[in-house]
Amino acid sequence: MDLKDHIRGIPDFPKPGILFYDISTLLAHPAAWQTAVERLAAAVAPYRPDVLAGIESRGFLVAAPLALKLGCGFVMVRKQGKLPGETVGHSYELEYGSDRVEIQADAVAPGRRVVLLDDLIATGGTLRASIELVRKVGGTVAAAACLIELTFLNGRAGLDIPLESLIRYEE
Ligand code: AMP
Repeated sequence: MDLKDHIRGIPDFPKPGILFYDISTLLAHPAAWQTAVERLAAAVAPYRPDVLAGIESRGFLVAAPLALKLGCGFVMVRKQGKLPGETVGHSYELEYGSDRVEIQADAVAPGRRVVLLDDLIATGGTLRASIELVRKVGGTVAAAACLIELTFLNGRAGLDIPLESLIRYEE
């Protein structure tokens, strides 16, 4: 099955000039979604994760079923102010301005092996910040995995861990 057949490119969303890769059509197609989760499971299992960390919000959709399948825990990396209790944050620069990701302080026991999940890697800024965040709470980041990689933005080059991706767009 070619998973690209189940991904929609929507031009000029959320702003002019951006081609948005919409995974709604993949999620809505049970056989395609099952295939995607199975392929991700095969790619991620060799890293022997204890915990999968999903990045808000589409990363949750990817990480939660995968965690069930692999028999690991699932934790959330969220935007600022969304998580209750004691949190740890990491701020990072965007093209214009800055952003902040947070995790619950006790989400990852020290030394646990974590694989980070998101729907898509573009510049890699979100993943880089999430890697630093998991390290701040003591986790060992074994790898990251995404459904989609925009290879022309070379986000992979800025990561110091292996990256797995199922679907690549070269331009
Ligand atoms: P980046 O930090 O540049 O790697 O951007 C990755 C984050 O932004 C991911 O959480 C994606 O969901 C979202 N994102 C960036 N570019 C796109 C795109 N062209 N289509 C869909 N989502 C995108």
